[in-house]
Amino acid sequence: MSDCLFCRIAAGEIPSTKVYEDGKCLAFMDIGPVVQGHVLVVPKEHFANLGGATDEIAGHLIAVARKIAVAQMKALGSAGFNVITNQGAVAGQTVGHLHFHVIPQFEGRAHKWNWDAHPYADMAEAAALAEKIRGAL
Ligand code: 5GP
Ligand code: ZN
Repeated sequence: MSDCLFCRIAAGEIPSTKVYEDGKCLAFMDIGPVVQGHVLVVPKEHFANLGGATDEIAGHLIAVARKIAVAQMKALGSAGFNVITNQGAVAGQTVGHLHFHVIPQFEGRAHKWNWDAHPYADMAEAAALAEKIRGAL
């Protein structure tokens, strides 16, 4: 897609600081890092989001994200990492081309996510939701 930012980066039309490339994907430094060393992994083929991608691409991107996260720990000294994708504006997606964020986490200066728990009233509520999800698989 000629008007897609990450398609243009993947095609080399817009410069990026590359970390890894193969036939199916590109990994490059995020221009607005949540933590220094933050990398994005994107497919070369345009998919708007993870839900719209194929199992093959999803699996490949996760495999590459894992390798990059391990390389960050080895090379940068990070103690852990977050691998996330945002789907939809409601989830914070701002670029409409599938990408995984690979965010290193360092001891003593960890980025804290706002991970508020909202408990179920009872396990029947969880079970009803589980049944709905199972029915849609
Ligand atoms: P989203 O909010 O869609 O999950 O994440 C989009 C990410 O793309 C953000 O972290 C943002 O900093 C990054 N980003 C946006 N524009 C550019 C760009 O032109 N170059 C690079 N390297 N990263 C970008
Ligand atoms: Zn695209």
